[in-house]
Amino acid sequence: MIFTPSSDAIVVGAGIIGAACAYALSRAGMSVTVIEARSAASGTSGQGEGNILLSDKEPGPELSLGLYSSDRWERITDELREHLPRGFPSIEYDRKGGLVVATTDAGVKPLLDLARTQRPTGVTAVEVDHAEALRLEPQLNPVITAAVHYPQDAQVQPVIATEAFLAAARRLGARTIFGEEVLDAITAPDRRITGVRTLHSRFSAGVVIIACGPWSAQVAEDLGSWLPVRPRRGVLLVTTPMPQTIVHKVYDADYVAAVGSDDEGLQTSSVIESTAAGTVLIGSSRRQSGFDQSLDLAGAREIARKAITIFPFLATASVMRTYGGFRPFMPDHLPVIGPDPRMPGLWHATGHEGAGIGLSIGTADLITSLITETPPPVDPAPYAPSRLGEPASVGDR
Ligand SMILES: Cc1cc2nc3c(=O)[nH]c(=O)nc-3n(C[C@H](O)[C@H](O)[C@H](O)COP(=O)(O)OP(=O)(O)OC[C@H]3O[C@@H](n4cnc5c(N)ncnc54)[C@H](O)[C@@H]3O)c2cc1C
Repeated sequence: MIFTPSSDAIVVGAGIIGAACAYALSRAGMSVTVIEARSAASGTSGQGEGNILLSDKEPGPELSLGLYSSDRWERITDELREHLPRGFPSIEYDRKGGLVVATTDAGVKPLLDLARTQRPTGVTAVEVDHAEALRLEPQLNPVITAAVHYPQDAQVQPVIATEAFLAAARRLGARTIFGEEVLDAITAPDRRITGVRTLHSRFSAGVVIIACGPWSAQVAEDLGSWLPVRPRRGVLLVTTPMPQTIVHKVYDADYVAAVGSDDEGLQTSSVIESTAAGTVLIGSSRRQSGFDQSLDLAGAREIARKAITIFPFLATASVMRTYGGFRPFMPDHLPVIGPDPRMPGLWHATGHEGAGIGLSIGTADLITSLITETPPPVDPAPYAPSRLGEPASVGDR
């Protein structure tokens, strides 16, 4: 058994949440050790899209964290550059904007109502008429019944962003350890967690943060606590390069309902965009079926059908590949960020479902401010693990 030097904080998991936390904690002057079972972004952060959306969020705590994160992303490229080696690849941040469209008469009111409630919070949501929608997106199906333009919607390359946070954290003194799975906790007699064990090593620290995405419930249990995070599967389609270009992120207004749904069955809504390589990325489905990785043909077929409704030119597109991952789903649709009430020293930064890329930097700043006892960027109460109470039954553990 190898005993490693103690750090102020251990971050378990090197997806985008763990990576961003490592960066923010290191920037605040803490010594940090990141322990990852596989490699950086090998979990959900490398298996989805990189949307940084405000358009899909209803007013409330998730939108507050989204607004804060959206502003941080605007500045992060310059900030990271200070810490990254010369020649480090771009994180491909692009505020390309989103266009949300309704394709039925019934879809008009919910879309416009949502935009109306978002505006007072600081979201720019511009209702555009039919002609303007087609000017913004010339390939759009003219049957659309309403459209709202969200210029703040942006994107980033999630794998490169994860690597960039980790590289910047390392420059600030953090240690990153890959290929070591955290197996259990080292605890003091008062139940305080003082470190973690892997197969070959023991690591000690003042605080331990679980940032294990959809595996967070298992890791929390292994360390002696409990979290109700579950995997919610999503699949995406990628076409071969197309001559047509989609300028914005375009999605149908059903998306918000699919995101907020508790239904365990298949939910689909298409978010469609062109990539720099000319391919079209079509996301995505939502289904709760554990960690089942079998081919989800029904999900793929349904998102393709919806994408063709919005962009008819896709009817002749060839799908080059389909891929996907497991979103870390929380039953109340809010991430868990803060100290574990059952186990002093244990912290959580997880449960971001389909918004963890966008919310990563806000999450990292929030948890850093709570740990360092500096003013938080947003009210931490709605995300606090203490809201979860106790597991209702053995089946919840
Ligand atoms: C199809 C799809 C599309 C998506 N699109 C978007 C989008 O456009 N915008 C957006 O914001 N979000 C999107 N998401 C959601 C986003 O990808 C997630 O919210 C985010 O990646 C979660 O990051 P994470 O760091 O919490 O988890 P992960 O990236 O899963 O990282 C967790 C890490 O913990 C490690 N780990 C697990 N157990 C252990 C252990 N015992 N010891 C050590 N390490 C361990 C894993 O190996 C993994 O690397 C999408 C998700 C999917 C599936």
